Amino acid sequence: MDVPPIEVTYDAAGVCLPRLGLWLDPHRRQAGAERVFVSHAHADHTGRHREVILTDPTARFMRVRLGGQRVEHRLPFGQPRRFTNGGAEFTITLLPAGHILGSAMAFIENAGATLLYTGDFKLQPSLAAEPCDFALARGCDTLIMETTFGRPQFCFPPAATVRAEIITFCREALAAGVTPLLLAYSLGKSQEVLAGLAGAGLPIMLHYDARKLTRIYERLGWQFPAYEPFAAAAARGKVHVGPPSLARSPLLARLAPTRSAMITGWAVDPRCRFRYGVDAAFPLSDHADFPDLVDFVKQVAPKKVFTLHGSTVEFARTLRELGYDAQALGADEQLDLVLNRNAEARMTDDERNPKPE
Ligand SMILES: [Zn+2]
Repeated sequence: MDVPPIEVTYDAAGVCLPRLGLWLDPHRRQAGAERVFVSHAHADHTGRHREVILTDPTARFMRVRLGGQRVEHRLPFGQPRRFTNGGAEFTITLLPAGHILGSAMAFIENAGATLLYTGDFKLQPSLAAEPCDFALARGCDTLIMETTFGRPQFCFPPAATVRAEIITFCREALAAGVTPLLLAYSLGKSQEVLAGLAGAGLPIMLHYDARKLTRIYERLGWQFPAYEPFAAAAARGKVHVGPPSLARSPLLARLAPTRSAMITGWAVDPRCRFRYGVDAAFPLSDHADFPDLVDFVKQVAPKKVFTLHGSTVEFARTLRELGYDAQALGADEQLDLVLNRNAEARMTDDERNPKPE
């Protein structure tokens, strides 16, 4: 017998499962009775909520980045936890999303109905995140998925190829007496870049935010090639891993001459280099690309799909053409927003357009 699906609502505050009293990465602080699932610690997914369900790494990152106190339910991957909300009882199981360390999908069961919320995810293995594993959710009733790179032109080259190109870029710059700057968001991407330099024998200098967050990875057992903290006096002749803002920092004069490279999935667009005002751009992403988004839906085989973030309308259309019942949550956000400097100033540390406030 068919059971009714779990009710999903979406408005300016974000995605909610109202019968369960559960928000999924809401855009606004939730201080009331409801609980919040926080999929990962990128700034556009976190907030000063009252009660959160999350992984241990995400809780640690949030403490460093946000401070404050919350009621925390730190759940290990793969272990169901039961919650009640009024008369409703539901079970939530966190599954590794492969996006950054601690990033989780939420598999939710209520009264015989099932729902998978992906948060940000990546199918290809990362050097700095747990491998994605969503087998438990196959055949779920409802899938709510991110579609940041949900257009066919977003097809990423193999990460090993990109990592080799980044190492060549650094070696050539150092050989020419130029300081290479690898610009990457401080949580997730910096650690992926750092791990990708292992074995290359390059001297590495890590800038402040990335170093602070990398130490949490290290405390959790992750290993990286040797690096030293940024120090202006010893900065030349080193590979610098720092935030995108470094490209416009007064520090640059201390490092000159420099050669800068932005590390982002948006680099599959050849205009990316010019729009970020950098010398090179390398398409290393912590998101699924278009072919993997399609592959993911085929593997999950849900009854109903809601798309969220990025190319929501376009990807929902793609899915309908493939025979799925798919619908966009919210408006389509334009890639062009991301690729100009004014918009970049509004970007979060994630790889996507900012969500509406
Ligand atoms: Zn993210």
